[in-house]
Amino acid sequence: MAVIPAAALLAGAGLVVAQQAAKKRRTSPVGYSDTPVLPGQKWKVHDIDRPRPKMVTPGARPGDPPSDAIVLFDGKDLSKWYVEDKKSRELKPATWKVGDGYFEATPGAGTLVSREKFGDAQFHVEWSAPTEITGDSQWRGNSGFLIMNRYEIQVLDCWDNPTYADGQAASIYGQWPPLANACRKPGEWQSYDIVFEAPKFEGGKLMQPGYATVFHNGVLMHNRKEITGRMAHRVVGTYAPHETEEPLALQDHDVAVRYRNIWVRRVMGYDRP
Ligand code: MG
Repeated sequence: MAVIPAAALLAGAGLVVAQQAAKKRRTSPVGYSDTPVLPGQKWKVHDIDRPRPKMVTPGARPGDPPSDAIVLFDGKDLSKWYVEDKKSRELKPATWKVGDGYFEATPGAGTLVSREKFGDAQFHVEWSAPTEITGDSQWRGNSGFLIMNRYEIQVLDCWDNPTYADGQAASIYGQWPPLANACRKPGEWQSYDIVFEAPKFEGGKLMQPGYATVFHNGVLMHNRKEITGRMAHRVVGTYAPHETEEPLALQDHDVAVRYRNIWVRRVMGYDRP
């Protein structure tokens, strides 16, 4: 039998004691009431009385809707949408073509308008441009994510397709170019994640402009960028008063752009207790 030196035995015992200490459950107060008040807030640092955020179960995979999202397309039908007649502007049941897990802008059918209305919100949308290229510049994969049916985050195939900067994919159309061109190839699915702060009106006057934060395929495009008015072509878009909540719309620009996985979370005010 091998003889184990006493020093090695002692070192081994020390290791066991250390491991037991590491396994010991450590506790911490769930809050404090003897801490200073935070500047500009009514709460103390680590305030025990401060309401805790609500639980939201995230989607199973990145891009999936979290538990409190309003899903506007479930992969099967367009029951959450109308289509706006191009001439009469009358709202009718949506007629865009629905495929396997996606739907497609149907040239001439009219803009798709959500039945539900939204103001301050977080949006997620996925889109893909047609693989068959039949035009250039603004005639390649043009559609649009029209927040409040008037503020456009441009949808455009910008893969090797020069166009004016404030009309590129993820631009605030006609106002602000995106910070980068992160376009994927035609036919590949792309995502927009948008935080939108609706403009505020009082007595018909603009009290606060709208703001948009936009990610394209996870790349930052706008960081709380001020929107200067409604979407307009070749003129400066201005504000006109509207409701605090308005429908989301997807532009029919006569190009068969595909969409899937569209969801919204109402985010009221951005204030937290
Ligand atoms: Mg457009």
